[in-house]
Amino acid sequence: MEKYDIIIIGAGPGGLTAGLYAGRQGTRTLILDKGITGGSGLMVPSMENYPGYDLIAGMSLIAKMKAQTEKNAEIHEMEGVETIDRVDNGFVLTTPKTSYFAKSIILATGTSHKKLNVPGEDHFTGLGVSYCATCDGLLFKDKDILIIGGGNSSLQEAIFLDNIGCNVTVVHRRNEFRGEKYLQNKLKEKGIPVIWDSVVEEIKGKQMVESVILSNNKNGSVHELEVQGVFIAIGDIPSSDLAKELGVNVNKYNQIITDKTQKTNVDNVYAIGDVTGGVKQWVVACGEGAIAASYAYQDLEQTKKKE
Ligand code: NAP
Repeated sequence: MEKYDIIIIGAGPGGLTAGLYAGRQGTRTLILDKGITGGSGLMVPSMENYPGYDLIAGMSLIAKMKAQTEKNAEIHEMEGVETIDRVDNGFVLTTPKTSYFAKSIILATGTSHKKLNVPGEDHFTGLGVSYCATCDGLLFKDKDILIIGGGNSSLQEAIFLDNIGCNVTVVHRRNEFRGEKYLQNKLKEKGIPVIWDSVVEEIKGKQMVESVILSNNKNGSVHELEVQGVFIAIGDIPSSDLAKELGVNVNKYNQIITDKTQKTNVDNVYAIGDVTGGVKQWVVACGEGAIAASYAYQDLEQTKKKE
């Protein structure tokens, strides 16, 4: 069995930063990800709030981070962790390919998309329904599309899709957005229409999406809107099942609880980024990655001294 000092689960911005810091301390570090490097970071069309960059796409920043981290840590893509067992002095992590030993674990498992759970959503996923503007946006150039949600993701996606030539409308269930004022202003400047106080009840079509049924929360009116695309950006669900199986404490939202050093209640298990809740921003995930890696290293050094 291959042995590592630190194994990081999740190769998003936080996991990559943890790998960079852990590797630079001289620890043997592995990052495992069930998908490709970047996680949901790949889906961010563009960012204007990552320090040092006026504007950068999630994909581009991930490519830079990956190249830097790979000099210091191994990254195994398409290798998700199925189980973690506590053993003497560490953990055994099992993937569909093999098992690994780690003295410490950093959980950077992120979140998954929340679903709308309306008729037509599952059926038309990939046939006009999407959760990723960066991935699918170009397919909808010159088409009428609806973006659902009032947070940063939906506003960013609306602006991105408008920029690439889609005819965008946003629908939000309340009469004010929760996303950043800066993004709200940009939406206004672009003249992107917003349908307030309304929810999508159904997504309809034959082969592909053709319309949605909208209902107004305030007056109960219902109408059908013709669209060829529906982008759903209504928040996320923490990917904390593995953590819970290991006995790691989570809060009522299933977010992993850590202290300021990113330690969980289980010795030598740390957690970082969106799976811990809080301010879900790249810069925060990266900062937490640096903190977790530094303390994981210190804790390993202390254990060595005691031995
Ligand atoms: P979010 O901030 O949780 O917003 C979700 C939006 O969807 C809210 O406006 C919510 O309405 C609405 N919504 C939730 N469930 C709904 C339903 N069943 N039907 C209709 N609407 C529904 O989610 P997000 O925009 O995906 O962002 C997630 C986190 O990532 C946030 O903390 C955000 O700040 C962060 N983020 C960061 C960046 C960045 O680093 N630059 C970029 C994107 C997102 P209500 O407002 O009524 O609750």
